[in-house]
Formats: sequence, C-alpha cells, structure tokens
Amino acid sequence: MAQDLEDPRPPTAKEVALVTFLASEDLRGADELRAQIAGMTVARNCDCGCESFSIHVRDDAPSSAWSHAATPGAYGRDGRLLNAFLFTREGRLVGAEITYHDGTARGVPDVDDLQFY
Ligand SMILES: [Zn+2]
Repeated sequence: MAQDLEDPRPPTAKEVALVTFLASEDLRGADELRAQIAGMTVARNCDCGCESFSIHVRDDAPSSAWSHAATPGAYGRDGRLLNAFLFTREGRLVGAEITYHDGTARGVPDVDDLQFY
C-alpha cells in the first residue's frame, strides 16, 4: 500500500461513513472490523484526488477473523464508475481504497452513491 502523505489524524465524518458502510456486510469477523472503527485514525495515501486513505486502529481494538486482504468492493450506483473497498491485514483494518475508473477522481464518495453487488 502507498505511503501516508500526512500524519495520522481523526477521520472526517465522510471517512467514518465510508468505512462503516464498507464494513457493513455480514462477513466472518465483521463485528470486530466494525469495532475497530471507534478510535481509528487515518492518513491520506494518494494525491490523485481519490482521497484513498490508510487506517490505523487502536492497539486494544479486537482483531477480526476476516482473513482476506480486502473486503468485498462496493460500486457506484451511477454507472459503477467508482469502486471502494477496505484493505485488511491480520484481521485489522489498514486502509480504504477508492478508485474512479473514468479518470476523474472526486474524493471520498458519498455512501448513498454506493452499493454492493
Ligand atoms: Zn488516488
């Protein structure tokens, strides 16, 4: 994953909403992933305008049984020109990836514009 471009900071409301939405599916270990959101800090890790960000969870946050490197992706409702998912490592949230496939990065997406397949 890309290098952080800023020091870890408290997430914006939009960032919390995105992570919460992306962790909302009924995955194995999802409860623990959701529990990691409280007290997480974030840092932007891409300067293209997509606002993808690294996630740093508290040391005392519970680890998840989720064993994959990423959560299932959500897609934009409008033509699916964007997708977003969470990176995980050893059951802990480590990043949110946001990709705009039309080459026009528009920042952290509004969760109302996203859906899972
Ligand atoms: Zn980017």
